[in-house]
Amino acid sequence: MTIDLKNLTIKKARMALDEKEFSAVDLAQAYLGKIKEKNKELNAYLEVYDDVLEQAKLADEKIGRGESSPLLGIPLAIKDVILVKNKKVSSASKILENYVASYDATVIAKLKEQGAVFLGRTNMDEFALGSSTENSAFGVTRNPYDLSRVAGGTSGGSTVAVASDMALGALGSDTGGSVRLPAAFCGVVGLKPTYGRVSRYGLIAAASSFDCVGQIAKNIEDAEIIFNAISGHDILDSTSVNYEADSKLSSKKELVIGVPWNLINQEGIEPNVKENFQKIVKSFESSGYKIKDISLPNCIALYYIINFAEVSSNLSRFDGVRYGLHKDGKNLLEDYLLTKGQGFGKEARRRILLGTFVLSAGYYDAYYGKAQRTRDALRKEFKKLFSEIDLILTPTSPIPAWKIGEKSDPLSMYLADIFTVTANIVGIPAISLPSGFMEVAGKKVPLGIQFMAPHGREEFLFEVGKKLEMIEGSN
Ligand code: GLN
Repeated sequence: MTIDLKNLTIKKARMALDEKEFSAVDLAQAYLGKIKEKNKELNAYLEVYDDVLEQAKLADEKIGRGESSPLLGIPLAIKDVILVKNKKVSSASKILENYVASYDATVIAKLKEQGAVFLGRTNMDEFALGSSTENSAFGVTRNPYDLSRVAGGTSGGSTVAVASDMALGALGSDTGGSVRLPAAFCGVVGLKPTYGRVSRYGLIAAASSFDCVGQIAKNIEDAEIIFNAISGHDILDSTSVNYEADSKLSSKKELVIGVPWNLINQEGIEPNVKENFQKIVKSFESSGYKIKDISLPNCIALYYIINFAEVSSNLSRFDGVRYGLHKDGKNLLEDYLLTKGQGFGKEARRRILLGTFVLSAGYYDAYYGKAQRTRDALRKEFKKLFSEIDLILTPTSPIPAWKIGEKSDPLSMYLADIFTVTANIVGIPAISLPSGFMEVAGKKVPLGIQFMAPHGREEFLFEVGKKLEMIEGSN
């Protein structure tokens, strides 16, 4: 049986499963076929699970019993940073290469309860440090629109799986843009929820005060379905927040959109990206949205100081004693040097060093302390800003997907995060939406725009996302 995977969405697949047009096993087989055809070239999956058809069979049994839930029988890809019990999870690092998860992350437990089918674990930058999936210990993931370009990162594998019909939806993680950046580079939807709205229990930590489990899907409706399935308060995550749907605000008629032209007009933004963005702003304006000029700071330095500090602290647990790779030296210090030296890639080692530096006694206050005080001030700024506007609109990335290997110095890659890191610093939800294409060297590559909303207001993002799909669809 052939299933038209290109035009399939989660919603359509669910209806077809309930109508018995095809079974969950048929659907899983179709995806396994696609993975076989495309994964070698794209390197989206690090491992395809060996029990996919068994999982699908279980879903079929539930469907047969008349059960129905929004993700029952739906094949999903999982970033290699989220724990699935009894499956390997490596964070794309040699140091965790053969580590097997001993429990399910809360998001996985929730998806299992719904009867979702997990196809496999996907490639990423090692420990979610990067913006392109070039920092994986297991090879780069390629952009399906141009194989010589990056997929974006760090959730490159999950995003490419969705963008090239190797999964119907996926989970990623977003610490400073890792779901949104690849979504923009690959022409799909990427959602970073409000910090604390989706449990982090069972997500391998990068920078804990920024980390979020994010959703990658072909359209807004699908992203919303996955978000609804995995969000909610969790006592196993001490930073989990209980958000009540506030109907007062969502019934507000006219959403006001703020645009930080000060950031968008500065150097380093690719002219085609800016042009595409201006077109989108105009479309929203002519659809009746009020657009307001706002000003936002460049938060790159602030983000990276806190990120380095938290990453260095989180990665210290990988000492070769408790889990993963272990190299024997003459004494404990040599054990550590050998294990960490061989187990961690270049970017992880760089951040451990820089993070240790910004946290060291002599520099703590000048770097980490100052960054934390600035973060507090920024949170207050945003609170004020959101009393005047409802959403902030920016491009997702200042540049389109770059050539593999093109960005050899880390700083130039960090700068690609200029629009995405702010949402993680403040803890607000943000989404990247496909906004068209630009031509580079004879090939069309996707572009994306980003909306940010106040804490707990994902529904604003879904509303403007649906609006944009209508605008783009009618063009
Ligand atoms: N590019 C950012 C970083 O390297 C964000 C990564 C992420 O969101 N995991 O820190």
